[in-house]
Amino acid sequence: MANDEDEVLTAMIRTGEQYREALLQEREVFVGGERVADVTKYAPFRRPIESFVAQYDAKHSAELHDVLTWTDPDAGTFDISFLIPKSHDELRAKGAAFAEFAKLSYGCLGRGPESMAALMAGLEESCEWFEQWGEGNHQKVLDYCHYVRDNDLFVTHALGNPQSDRSKQSHQQDNPYLHLKLKEERDDGIVIRGAKQLATAAPFADEVIVFPNGRTFGPGDEEYCLCFAVPTTASGLKMMCREPLVMDDCLKIYDHPFSSRYEEIDALLVFDDVFVPWDRVFFHNNLFAANNMRFMTSVAAFSGHLSTRRAAIRSSLTVAAAMELCKSVKTADFPNVGELLGRIAALQKALEALVFRAEEDPRVAENGTYFVNPDALTASGLLYPDFYTTMLETIKRTGAAGLMLTPTQADFSGEAAEFAETYFAGADGMRGSDRVQIAKLAWDLVGGPIAQRMNHYERFYIGEPMFVGNFFSKSVELNEGRELFERVIKEGKESQE
Ligand SMILES: Cc1cc2nc3c(=O)[nH]c(=O)nc-3n(C[C@H](O)[C@H](O)[C@H](O)COP(=O)(O)OP(=O)(O)OC[C@H]3O[C@@H](n4cnc5c(N)ncnc54)[C@H](O)[C@@H]3O)c2cc1C
Repeated sequence: MANDEDEVLTAMIRTGEQYREALLQEREVFVGGERVADVTKYAPFRRPIESFVAQYDAKHSAELHDVLTWTDPDAGTFDISFLIPKSHDELRAKGAAFAEFAKLSYGCLGRGPESMAALMAGLEESCEWFEQWGEGNHQKVLDYCHYVRDNDLFVTHALGNPQSDRSKQSHQQDNPYLHLKLKEERDDGIVIRGAKQLATAAPFADEVIVFPNGRTFGPGDEEYCLCFAVPTTASGLKMMCREPLVMDDCLKIYDHPFSSRYEEIDALLVFDDVFVPWDRVFFHNNLFAANNMRFMTSVAAFSGHLSTRRAAIRSSLTVAAAMELCKSVKTADFPNVGELLGRIAALQKALEALVFRAEEDPRVAENGTYFVNPDALTASGLLYPDFYTTMLETIKRTGAAGLMLTPTQADFSGEAAEFAETYFAGADGMRGSDRVQIAKLAWDLVGGPIAQRMNHYERFYIGEPMFVGNFFSKSVELNEGRELFERVIKEGKESQE
C-alpha cells in the first residue's frame, strides 16, 4: 500500500478515469456537420478514448509504473516523457519508456499524451531561447511546461496553415484571416482569428499548443507568426474533424485488431476570436522566431526521439506479421518470397540500428542535457516512410488473395463453422480460424480503415520532408567522407604538378 509520501508524489499522474472526466468539459467539436455533445459518448470516439484511458492507467500499473514514470526529488512523480535527460542513463530510460508506450497501441497512436509530453520537455529545455523575444518569456514557457507536466495533461498541436493557396504567403490569401492571425492586442493578452492544422487527437486533448513548423513565413506575414497555448475548451475554438474512418464502436478485435481501437482522428482548428492571455503567448509578430523555432530549439529533437522509437515498434510488428502470414500458407519457403521478407527484415534492422546509434552516441549540451544523436534521428525520420511503405507493399505482394478472402470471427462459430475451419485452413494443420486471424491482422496493417491513414501519417509525422531533408543536407556530419574527398582532390592536383 502506498504511504502518505507516495500519495503526494504520485498526485501528478492522472488515472484514466480522471482523464476521461476532464473530457466532459464543454468543447466545440464538429463531425459530419453536427456538434458532438459529449465526446466520451460519441461512438467513433469511444474506443480511441478507451485506448488513451488505458495509457494513463498503464502509468499506475505495477508492471509499467517504474518504466513510464520518473520521480524527481523536487518536482515529484511525473510521466517520464516530460523528463529532460541529464545523464546517459536518463536518456536510455526515456527511450525504453517510449518503446513501452508504443507497444500499448502497437504503435498506432502517434499523438497520444506521451508524444506531446516529449515535445513539452523539448520546449522546457529551450525555455531560455524565448527570453530574447520578450522579457519574462522564458518564465512563461517554463511555467506552462510545468503546468502541463504537473497536471499530466494531454496536449495536441497544430503547426501548419490550411493549404488554401500554397503559392501565396499567408497575408496574400484572399481572406486575411484564413490563416491564423493576430486580430487585436489588449492589455491582458491577444485575440486571434483564423485556422491552423492538422491537430491529431484534438477532441481528446486538454490543451493545444500552436507554433510554426518550418520556414514558411515571409515579409508581410508578421501577424501570422504566433506561438501560444490555450485549453481545448477555450471560448471560440472550434475543432472541425475529418470524417471518422471507423464509425462503429463494436468492431471485433479479432476482425480488426487496430481499426477497432486506434482511430485517433484529425482536426482543423478554427480560432474564432479566441483570447490568449499574455502568460500563454510565447512570442508573436516575429518572423525570425517563427521561421527558426523548429531548427533552434530542442522541440524537434525531443519529440523525434519518441517518434523514432514508436516507428521502430510499429515496423517490427509489420515485418513479423509479413513473415507469419507467409508461414501460414508456406509461401515463406519459396526463395523469391524469402528474399522479399529478408529485405524488409533488413530495413527493420537498419531502423533498429539508427535507434541504437541515436541513444548510444548522444550529444551532451553545455547545460548538461543529453540529446539523441541528431544525424541518426533525422536519418530515421527521413528513411522510415519509404521503409514502412516497402514493408506494406511486401505484405500485399506476398499475401495476395489471402488478404482479401477473410471471413469474420462469427463465421467460425456460425452455421458453416465446420466448413470455415476446414477450407480456410493453412499449412501444417493450421486451423482456418487461426490462419484467417493472421490474414486479418495483416490486412488491418495494410488496407483496413486506419491502415491508409497510418501510412500517410508515417510519411508526414516529421513535418514537411522538404524542410527536414533540406536542413539535413546542410547539417549532417560527414567528416570522414569529406576528408577522403579532399585527399583525392589533392592527389589529383599534385599529380598535375
Ligand atoms: C495523418 C496526419 C497527421 C498529422 N498530424 C499532425 C499534428 O498532430 N500536428 C500538426 O501540427 N501537424 C500534423 N500533420 C501535418 C503534417 O505536419 C504536414 O502534413 C506536413 O508538415 C506537410 O505539410 P502540408 O500537409 O501542409 O503540405 P504542404 O505544405 O501543402 O505540401 C504539399 C506539397 O507541396 C510541396 N510544397 C508546399 N509548399 C512548397 C513550397 N513553398 N515550395 C516547394 N514545394 C512546396 C510540398 O513539398 C508537398 O509535396 C499531420 C499530417 C498527417 C497527414
